[in-house]
Amino acid sequence: MVCPEQLPPTGIQVIIVGAEGIGGLACAIECQNKGHSVIVLEKFPKLEILGDIISFGPNAGRIIERWGNGLVADRLRPITLNHTGSTWRRFDGAEITKMRTHGLKFGSPMYNGHRGEFHEIFFNFAKETGVEIRLGQRVEEYWEEPGKAGVIVNGQRMEADLVVGADGVRSKARKLVLGYDDKPHSSGYAVWRTWFTSEELAKDPLTEWMTKGDTHTGWFGPDVHFLAASLKQGKDISWVCTHEDKADIEESWSFPGKIEDVLKVVGDWDPVVQTLVKKTPPDTLVDWKLVYRDPLPTWISKGARTCLLGDAAHPFLPTSIQGASQAMEDGVVLAACLHAAGKDRVPLAVRSYERIRYERCRRAQRLGETNRDTWHKADFSTVLEKEKAGGMKLPTPPWLFSHDSETNAYRVFPQVSKDILAGKYGSEEIGNQTGICEKKLTTVSAPVTKQAEVGA
Ligand SMILES: Cc1cc2nc3c(=O)[nH]c(=O)nc-3n(C[C@H](O)[C@H](O)[C@H](O)COP(=O)(O)OP(=O)(O)OC[C@H]3O[C@@H](n4cnc5c(N)ncnc54)[C@H](O)[C@@H]3O)c2cc1C
Repeated sequence: MVCPEQLPPTGIQVIIVGAEGIGGLACAIECQNKGHSVIVLEKFPKLEILGDIISFGPNAGRIIERWGNGLVADRLRPITLNHTGSTWRRFDGAEITKMRTHGLKFGSPMYNGHRGEFHEIFFNFAKETGVEIRLGQRVEEYWEEPGKAGVIVNGQRMEADLVVGADGVRSKARKLVLGYDDKPHSSGYAVWRTWFTSEELAKDPLTEWMTKGDTHTGWFGPDVHFLAASLKQGKDISWVCTHEDKADIEESWSFPGKIEDVLKVVGDWDPVVQTLVKKTPPDTLVDWKLVYRDPLPTWISKGARTCLLGDAAHPFLPTSIQGASQAMEDGVVLAACLHAAGKDRVPLAVRSYERIRYERCRRAQRLGETNRDTWHKADFSTVLEKEKAGGMKLPTPPWLFSHDSETNAYRVFPQVSKDILAGKYGSEEIGNQTGICEKKLTTVSAPVTKQAEVGA
């Protein structure tokens, strides 16, 4: 049996929008495992192997390891970055510090690899567990009525107990949830990113070392950082370079990148960086805009029959290295709350999901901002001496990495749901548990900092 952990049917019908994303798929797998009945709708007509490097922290590794009792983890392992640590360098190549990988320090491993290849493994596993995925289904509209919600897709009206908008940074579901269209703002940064095979680098003495095994190196300069990894025993190379960007972000946010533009920024850096850039096949390079959004006041509709998940709810900066992991945690918590609440209390489950997830997620988002500032605003004339204190190292907070989102959700659900029913978060939240609840958009309080879009 592919999914020995699958629980008996709950009768809860869930429509999830977004199967080419990590968040929607994780939610589908978790809902299926908890006995809910799931249909996933995706606008892409076929599975695509998209993107480049992506990271799953130990908090997501814990989720992955449970899927199929280790089956998914076994499939990921051969294509996962398998290194002993990272080397951080100043832009000129001088070594700043070394960081060992944390292995099983937090109870489960990290998984870093090609987003599209990882996604394909999750996609196939979801189908094997019985999730119904319908491709070529572009959701045109979200709707909600007392006691039910649904979508209009290809002219057809579909309904369920709950609709999950896992439809990414350009989410359409957000409008139903918020009651207005929120606009992105320029962040002043963009990321050049690429993934290619290493044959040409193997021929160059400056980069040959990267092709002998898996490696991870970062170079840091004023307002720029450059991270390079070699994977699959050095056969594949990925690098990302976060840089200042003054271009308009009106419509498109991913453009073909130009090697000459990258060299204008890092052309006088460590010769290893220069070689990496010059030997990058130009057609693999993209320039990915990072735009800001104001934090959403809520992730759930007034009736709590429609909710947002993953980037649709909370886009992350790549420097948080948590975007995909937090999207996964969302799915786990939502599925567990639905299971704990039962079919007659779907709105209570959805409110509990938001309560359990919101602040933790904001805290993880803020790490992306502090990491970026630590890296970009360092005093590079003194960084080599100062770094002995370890200030540039990536933080590895136990509250983030040791967290078991499933166990925690079942543990706190009874109290959180009781507090919601008791009106602790505002009397407008009490409502009718089997039908529509009136709830103001301001019920979740959050510090008003910005959210970054497109993530780690
Ligand atoms: C093409 C692509 C490439 C990416 N590459 C990287 C990468 O290399 N590295 C990295 O760290 N992060 C990458 N990301 C971002 C990363 O996947 C997310 O930050 C994170 O995994 C959370 O994902 P998500 O599922 O919330 O959203 P997303 O990954 O954005 O997925 C949203 C899904 O919803 C679908 N969708 C949207 N609107 C509709 C609609 N109206 N009807 C039906 N379906 C709809 C989209 O097609 C997509 O499949 C990429 C995202 C995308 C979409």
